[in-house]
Amino acid sequence: MSVLIVGTTALDSINTPKAKNPRLLGGSASHAAVAASFFAPTRLVGVVGGDFPQSHVKLYASRGICLKGLERVKDGQTFHWHGEYEVNMNNRRTLNTVLGVIENWQPRLPGDYGQSPYVLLANIAPSIQLAVLDQLSKPKFVIADTMDLWLNVALADLLKLLKRVDCLVLNDSEARQLTEDDNVVSALAKIHKLGPKFVIIKKGEHGSILSGPSGMFVAPAYPLLKVVDPTGAGDSFVGALLGYMASQKGGNIEKHLRKAMIHGAVVASFCCEGFGLVRTVKADKKAIRDRVKHLEKIARF
Ligand code: AMP
Repeated sequence: MSVLIVGTTALDSINTPKAKNPRLLGGSASHAAVAASFFAPTRLVGVVGGDFPQSHVKLYASRGICLKGLERVKDGQTFHWHGEYEVNMNNRRTLNTVLGVIENWQPRLPGDYGQSPYVLLANIAPSIQLAVLDQLSKPKFVIADTMDLWLNVALADLLKLLKRVDCLVLNDSEARQLTEDDNVVSALAKIHKLGPKFVIIKKGEHGSILSGPSGMFVAPAYPLLKVVDPTGAGDSFVGALLGYMASQKGGNIEKHLRKAMIHGAVVASFCCEGFGLVRTVKADKKAIRDRVKHLEKIARF
Protein backbone atom coordinates (compact mmCIF):
# COMPACT_ATOMS: atom_id res chain seq x y z
CA MET A 1 0.00 0.00 0.00
CA SER A 2 1.14 3.54 -0.61
CA VAL A 3 2.48 6.16 1.76
CA LEU A 4 1.68 9.86 1.45
CA ILE A 5 4.23 12.26 2.93
CA VAL A 6 3.83 16.02 3.36
CA GLY A 7 6.58 18.19 4.82
CA THR A 8 9.44 20.46 3.85
CA THR A 9 11.38 19.96 0.62
CA ALA A 10 14.37 22.09 1.49
CA LEU A 11 17.84 23.27 0.81
CA ASP A 12 19.94 22.70 3.94
CA SER A 13 23.24 24.38 4.79
CA ILE A 14 24.93 22.27 7.43
CA ASN A 15 28.01 23.12 9.49
CA THR A 16 29.73 20.40 11.52
CA PRO A 17 33.04 20.78 13.38
CA LYS A 18 34.71 19.10 10.36
CA ALA A 19 32.92 20.55 7.31
CA LYS A 20 30.54 23.10 5.88
CA ASN A 21 28.06 21.96 3.26
CA PRO A 22 25.85 24.62 1.70
CA ARG A 23 22.50 24.04 0.00
CA LEU A 24 22.20 20.27 0.16
CA LEU A 25 18.94 18.52 -0.61
CA GLY A 26 17.12 18.28 2.73
CA GLY A 27 13.80 18.87 4.43
CA SER A 28 11.59 16.66 6.53
CA ALA A 29 9.62 15.32 3.55
CA SER A 30 12.75 14.68 1.45
CA HIS A 31 14.40 12.54 4.12
CA ALA A 32 11.15 10.78 5.04
CA ALA A 33 10.14 10.06 1.43
CA VAL A 34 13.52 8.63 0.46
CA ALA A 35 13.45 6.45 3.60
CA ALA A 36 9.87 5.25 2.95
CA SER A 37 10.70 4.46 -0.67
CA PHE A 38 12.85 1.48 0.42
CA PHE A 39 9.66 -0.27 1.50
CA ALA A 40 6.53 1.08 -0.25
CA PRO A 41 5.26 3.23 -3.13
CA THR A 42 5.69 6.79 -1.88
CA ARG A 43 3.86 10.03 -2.72
CA LEU A 44 5.51 13.34 -1.90
CA VAL A 45 3.53 16.51 -1.20
CA GLY A 46 5.68 19.63 -0.96
CA VAL A 47 6.56 22.96 -2.53
CA VAL A 48 9.82 24.32 -3.92
CA GLY A 49 10.94 27.56 -5.51
CA GLY A 50 12.58 28.31 -8.86
CA ASP A 51 15.99 27.84 -7.22
CA PHE A 52 15.40 24.14 -6.46
CA PRO A 53 17.85 22.18 -8.67
CA GLN A 54 16.32 19.79 -11.17
CA SER A 55 18.92 17.20 -10.09
CA HIS A 56 17.11 16.96 -6.72
CA VAL A 57 13.82 16.31 -8.50
CA LYS A 58 15.60 13.60 -10.49
CA LEU A 59 16.84 12.03 -7.28
CA TYR A 60 13.26 11.74 -5.96
CA ALA A 61 12.17 10.29 -9.30
CA SER A 62 15.03 7.78 -9.30
CA ARG A 63 13.56 6.36 -6.06
CA GLY A 64 10.18 5.89 -7.75
CA ILE A 65 8.66 8.64 -5.58
CA CYS A 66 5.44 9.99 -7.11
CA LEU A 67 5.83 13.76 -7.63
CA LYS A 68 2.32 14.78 -8.69
CA GLY A 69 2.06 16.61 -5.35
CA LEU A 70 5.35 18.53 -5.66
CA GLU A 71 4.55 22.14 -6.57
CA ARG A 72 7.10 24.57 -8.00
CA VAL A 73 6.65 28.33 -7.54
CA LYS A 74 8.94 29.67 -10.27
CA ASP A 75 9.51 33.13 -8.78
CA GLY A 76 9.71 31.89 -5.18
CA GLN A 77 12.54 30.77 -2.91
CA THR A 78 12.84 27.20 -1.60
CA PHE A 79 12.62 26.68 2.18
CA HIS A 80 16.18 27.00 3.48
CA TRP A 81 17.48 25.76 6.83
CA HIS A 82 20.96 26.58 8.12
CA GLY A 83 22.15 24.61 11.13
CA GLU A 84 25.32 24.04 13.08
CA TYR A 85 26.43 21.05 15.18
CA GLU A 86 28.63 21.12 18.28
CA VAL A 87 31.65 18.83 18.60
CA ASN A 88 29.57 16.03 20.21
CA MET A 89 27.23 16.01 17.14
CA ASN A 90 24.18 15.69 19.42
CA ASN A 91 23.57 19.36 20.07
CA ARG A 92 22.68 21.58 17.16
CA ARG A 93 21.39 25.07 16.77
CA THR A 94 19.49 26.73 13.98
CA LEU A 95 21.48 29.65 12.54
CA ASN A 96 18.80 30.73 10.07
CA THR A 97 15.50 29.59 8.57
CA VAL A 98 14.03 31.10 5.40
CA LEU A 99 10.44 29.93 4.96
CA GLY A 100 10.26 31.11 1.33
CA VAL A 101 7.48 29.40 -0.63
CA ILE A 102 6.29 27.49 2.47
CA GLU A 103 5.02 30.73 4.03
CA ASN A 104 1.90 31.10 1.87
CA TRP A 105 1.58 27.53 0.71
CA GLN A 106 -1.87 25.98 0.63
CA PRO A 107 -1.33 22.32 -0.17
CA ARG A 108 -3.81 20.67 -2.54
CA LEU A 109 -3.77 16.90 -2.86
CA PRO A 110 -3.85 15.80 -6.52
CA GLY A 111 -5.89 12.90 -7.99
CA ASP A 112 -6.48 10.04 -5.59
CA TYR A 113 -3.88 11.16 -3.02
CA GLY A 114 -6.73 11.85 -0.57
CA GLN A 115 -7.38 8.10 -0.41
CA SER A 116 -3.82 7.25 0.66
CA PRO A 117 -3.98 4.68 3.47
CA TYR A 118 -0.73 5.55 5.28
CA VAL A 119 0.00 9.22 5.86
CA LEU A 120 2.96 11.01 7.38
CA LEU A 121 2.45 14.65 8.34
CA ALA A 122 6.19 15.26 8.57
CA ASN A 123 7.63 18.29 10.32
CA ILE A 124 6.10 21.49 8.91
CA ALA A 125 3.71 24.16 10.26
CA PRO A 126 0.74 22.44 11.99
CA SER A 127 -1.67 24.60 9.92
CA ILE A 128 -0.30 22.90 6.78
CA GLN A 129 -0.52 19.47 8.43
CA LEU A 130 -4.19 20.23 9.29
CA ALA A 131 -4.91 21.40 5.72
CA VAL A 132 -3.67 18.04 4.39
CA LEU A 133 -5.59 16.10 7.02
CA ASP A 134 -8.79 17.90 5.93
CA GLN A 135 -8.33 16.48 2.40
CA LEU A 136 -7.96 12.83 3.46
CA SER A 137 -10.77 10.33 3.41
CA LYS A 138 -10.57 7.50 5.95
CA PRO A 139 -6.80 6.94 6.13
CA LYS A 140 -5.71 3.74 7.88
CA PHE A 141 -2.89 5.24 9.92
CA VAL A 142 -1.77 8.87 10.28
CA ILE A 143 1.49 9.86 11.97
CA ALA A 144 2.42 13.45 12.82
CA ASP A 145 5.92 14.70 13.52
CA THR A 146 6.72 18.13 14.92
CA MET A 147 9.49 20.26 16.45
CA ASP A 148 10.12 22.78 19.24
CA LEU A 149 9.52 25.75 16.89
CA TRP A 150 5.85 24.77 16.42
CA LEU A 151 5.43 24.18 20.16
CA ASN A 152 6.60 27.78 20.59
CA VAL A 153 4.72 29.53 17.80
CA ALA A 154 1.74 27.33 16.83
CA LEU A 155 0.72 25.37 19.91
CA ALA A 156 -3.04 25.88 19.41
CA ASP A 157 -2.93 24.38 15.90
CA LEU A 158 -0.70 21.55 17.10
CA LEU A 159 -3.17 20.66 19.86
CA LYS A 160 -5.99 20.60 17.28
CA LEU A 161 -3.90 18.25 15.15
CA LEU A 162 -3.14 15.88 18.02
CA LYS A 163 -6.84 15.15 18.50
CA ARG A 164 -6.99 13.83 14.91
CA VAL A 165 -3.89 11.66 14.39
CA ASP A 166 -3.17 8.04 15.34
CA CYS A 167 0.44 8.55 16.31
CA LEU A 168 2.68 11.43 17.37
CA VAL A 169 6.45 11.21 16.98
CA LEU A 170 8.62 13.73 18.82
CA ASN A 171 11.97 13.85 20.55
CA ASP A 172 12.50 13.74 24.29
CA SER A 173 13.11 17.47 24.78
CA GLU A 174 9.95 18.28 22.78
CA ALA A 175 7.96 15.80 24.91
CA ARG A 176 9.25 17.59 28.02
CA GLN A 177 8.30 20.97 26.55
CA LEU A 178 4.82 19.83 25.49
CA THR A 179 3.94 18.23 28.83
CA GLU A 180 6.14 20.26 31.22
CA ASP A 181 7.19 16.90 32.62
CA ASP A 182 10.75 15.57 32.91
CA ASN A 183 9.63 11.99 33.47
CA VAL A 184 9.27 10.26 30.12
CA VAL A 185 6.72 7.71 31.43
CA SER A 186 4.31 10.29 32.80
CA ALA A 187 4.97 12.54 29.78
CA LEU A 188 3.79 9.68 27.53
CA ALA A 189 0.57 9.36 29.53
CA LYS A 190 -0.04 13.11 29.24
CA ILE A 191 0.48 13.05 25.45
CA HIS A 192 -2.05 10.19 25.08
CA LYS A 193 -4.57 12.41 26.85
CA LEU A 194 -4.05 15.03 24.11
CA GLY A 195 -5.32 12.53 21.50
CA PRO A 196 -2.88 10.10 19.89
CA LYS A 197 -3.37 6.39 20.61
CA PHE A 198 0.32 5.78 19.86
CA VAL A 199 3.22 8.00 20.90
CA ILE A 200 6.86 7.51 19.92
CA ILE A 201 9.57 9.44 21.72
CA LYS A 202 12.92 9.60 19.91
CA LYS A 203 16.04 9.68 22.06
CA GLY A 204 18.69 10.11 19.36
CA GLU A 205 21.62 7.73 19.78
CA HIS A 206 19.74 6.10 22.70
CA GLY A 207 16.90 4.78 20.55
CA SER A 208 13.17 5.34 20.80
CA ILE A 209 10.20 4.43 23.00
CA LEU A 210 6.74 3.47 21.77
CA SER A 211 3.68 3.74 23.97
CA GLY A 212 0.38 2.23 22.83
CA PRO A 213 -2.67 0.35 24.09
CA SER A 214 -0.65 -2.75 24.97
CA GLY A 215 2.11 -0.92 26.78
CA MET A 216 5.61 0.20 25.97
CA PHE A 217 8.30 -1.00 23.58
CA VAL A 218 11.89 0.19 23.50
CA ALA A 219 13.87 0.14 20.24
CA PRO A 220 17.64 0.65 20.25
CA ALA A 221 19.43 2.97 17.86
CA TYR A 222 21.87 1.27 15.51
CA PRO A 223 25.34 1.66 17.07
CA LEU A 224 27.58 3.76 14.80
CA LEU A 225 31.31 4.28 15.21
CA LYS A 226 31.21 7.55 13.29
CA VAL A 227 28.46 10.11 12.79
CA VAL A 228 29.04 12.50 9.87
CA ASP A 229 25.75 14.46 9.90
CA PRO A 230 22.63 13.50 11.88
CA THR A 231 20.38 15.98 10.03
CA GLY A 232 17.26 14.18 8.86
CA ALA A 233 17.80 11.12 11.07
CA GLY A 234 14.45 11.68 12.79
CA ASP A 235 12.67 12.14 9.46
CA SER A 236 14.37 9.05 8.02
CA PHE A 237 13.33 7.08 11.11
CA VAL A 238 9.65 7.97 10.79
CA GLY A 239 9.60 7.72 6.96
CA ALA A 240 11.09 4.21 7.03
CA LEU A 241 8.80 3.27 9.91
CA LEU A 242 5.67 4.19 7.95
CA GLY A 243 6.99 2.69 4.70
CA TYR A 244 7.59 -0.58 6.54
CA MET A 245 4.05 -0.50 8.01
CA ALA A 246 2.59 0.06 4.53
CA SER A 247 4.51 -2.96 3.23
CA GLN A 248 2.91 -5.34 5.76
CA LYS A 249 -0.26 -7.21 4.92
CA GLY A 250 -3.01 -7.42 7.57
CA GLY A 251 -2.18 -8.29 11.16
CA ASN A 252 -1.83 -6.22 14.25
CA ILE A 253 -0.76 -2.58 13.91
CA GLU A 254 1.07 -2.59 17.23
CA LYS A 255 3.11 -5.65 16.31
CA HIS A 256 4.07 -4.07 12.97
CA LEU A 257 4.94 -0.81 14.72
CA ARG A 258 7.59 -2.53 16.83
CA LYS A 259 9.37 -4.01 13.80
CA ALA A 260 8.81 -0.76 11.94
CA MET A 261 10.73 1.11 14.66
CA ILE A 262 13.71 -1.22 14.17
CA HIS A 263 13.64 -0.60 10.39
CA GLY A 264 13.35 3.13 11.11
CA ALA A 265 16.41 3.00 13.36
CA VAL A 266 18.40 1.23 10.66
CA VAL A 267 17.55 3.68 7.86
CA ALA A 268 18.26 6.59 10.25
CA SER A 269 21.71 5.10 10.88
CA PHE A 270 22.53 5.29 7.16
CA CYS A 271 21.35 8.90 7.12
CA CYS A 272 23.84 9.78 9.91
CA GLU A 273 26.78 8.37 7.98
CA GLY A 274 26.79 11.07 5.31
CA PHE A 275 25.75 14.67 4.67
CA GLY A 276 22.17 15.23 3.61
CA LEU A 277 20.89 12.20 1.71
CA VAL A 278 24.27 11.18 0.30
CA ARG A 279 24.66 7.96 2.31
CA THR A 280 20.97 7.05 2.58
CA VAL A 281 20.57 6.71 -1.18
CA LYS A 282 23.53 4.31 -1.32
CA ALA A 283 21.84 1.85 1.05
CA ASP A 284 19.83 -1.05 -0.34
CA LYS A 285 17.47 -3.74 0.95
CA LYS A 286 20.30 -6.14 1.77
CA ALA A 287 22.24 -3.52 3.75
CA ILE A 288 19.03 -2.72 5.66
CA ARG A 289 18.35 -6.43 6.35
CA ASP A 290 21.90 -6.93 7.66
CA ARG A 291 21.61 -4.06 10.12
CA VAL A 292 18.14 -5.21 11.23
CA LYS A 293 19.65 -8.65 11.98
CA HIS A 294 22.47 -7.03 13.91
CA LEU A 295 20.02 -5.00 16.00
CA GLU A 296 17.97 -8.15 16.65
CA LYS A 297 21.08 -9.87 17.94
CA ILE A 298 22.27 -7.12 20.25
CA ALA A 299 18.82 -6.36 21.70
CA ARG A 300 17.65 -9.92 22.43
CA PHE A 301 17.84 -11.27 26.00
P1 AMP B 1 15.79 16.15 11.81
O1 AMP B 1 17.29 16.16 11.85
O2 AMP B 1 15.21 14.78 11.61
O3 AMP B 1 15.17 16.88 12.94
O4 AMP B 1 15.34 16.96 10.49
C1 AMP B 1 16.09 18.01 9.94
C2 AMP B 1 15.39 18.47 8.68
O5 AMP B 1 14.26 19.27 9.07
C3 AMP B 1 16.26 19.35 7.80
O6 AMP B 1 16.44 18.72 6.55
C4 AMP B 1 15.53 20.68 7.67
O7 AMP B 1 15.40 21.14 6.35
C5 AMP B 1 14.15 20.39 8.23
N1 AMP B 1 13.68 21.51 9.03
C6 AMP B 1 14.41 22.37 9.78
N2 AMP B 1 13.63 23.30 10.37
C7 AMP B 1 12.35 23.03 9.97
C8 AMP B 1 11.08 23.61 10.21
N3 AMP B 1 10.93 24.71 10.95
N4 AMP B 1 9.99 23.02 9.68
C9 AMP B 1 10.11 21.93 8.91
N5 AMP B 1 11.28 21.33 8.60
C10 AMP B 1 12.40 21.87 9.13
